[in-house]
Amino acid sequence: MTGYRLVLPNNTNNDETNVTIKGIIFDMDGTLTKPQTWMFGEMRNQLNVPNGIDILTHLDSLPTIKDKEEAELKLRLIEEKAMIEQEPTIGLFETLQKLNKLDIKTSICTRNVPKPVSKFCSKFLNYDPFNDENGNGNSILTGPIVTREFKPPKPSAKPLLHIINSWNVKSNEVIMVGDSNDDIDAGLNAGCAVILLRHDDNYHVEKSYNFENNNKLDAIVTDLNELYNVLENGLYVKSRESI
Ligand SMILES: [Mg+2]
Repeated sequence: MTGYRLVLPNNTNNDETNVTIKGIIFDMDGTLTKPQTWMFGEMRNQLNVPNGIDILTHLDSLPTIKDKEEAELKLRLIEEKAMIEQEPTIGLFETLQKLNKLDIKTSICTRNVPKPVSKFCSKFLNYDPFNDENGNGNSILTGPIVTREFKPPKPSAKPLLHIINSWNVKSNEVIMVGDSNDDIDAGLNAGCAVILLRHDDNYHVEKSYNFENNNKLDAIVTDLNELYNVLENGLYVKSRESI
């Protein structure tokens, strides 16, 4: 696909290369929340994950069900500890509210488990995504939210395509916003535009896509207000053939 410009539905510039944004998928930890990078170091320590091996890949490779259950419990306890200290990224509520008013679909795709997601949504977005009895589908997030219960996880395209297909839109009308290589790779694998949320602990991610002047990232933002500004100005999505 050649490059194109993604614009908000209220954009009045009728350029024929414009594509209207239909949906945005967000990573949760470090993207919608401030980064808690200690969490991943603690997971690697407690599970003795070898360097260079993905935490969930290591978990899946453990020999017995008992080993896996013990490791899963350790991860959950760390994630629940992090959950208590969650803080929202600047612009979280306002940006989701603006996207909601424009009928842009939104969801979360996370490698975390449902409980911290539920806590995050009820604490900062005033709704419980797994028990939306009163929301009648009019919640600030469209969903469906994808957690670690969905296999395979990011960087596979599958969790993203699950959301995109449920929205009945095309991948090139959707943006993946995240702070890690898993998020960006999943977005690229699914054929979405990709935006990196830059924070103090993820310079290595930006650097990994920025070699030989062949930057795969469509934009880099530092908070969610800045994300909305980028969308208001139109997001140029790079040609995928050249990468
Ligand atoms: Mg993250």
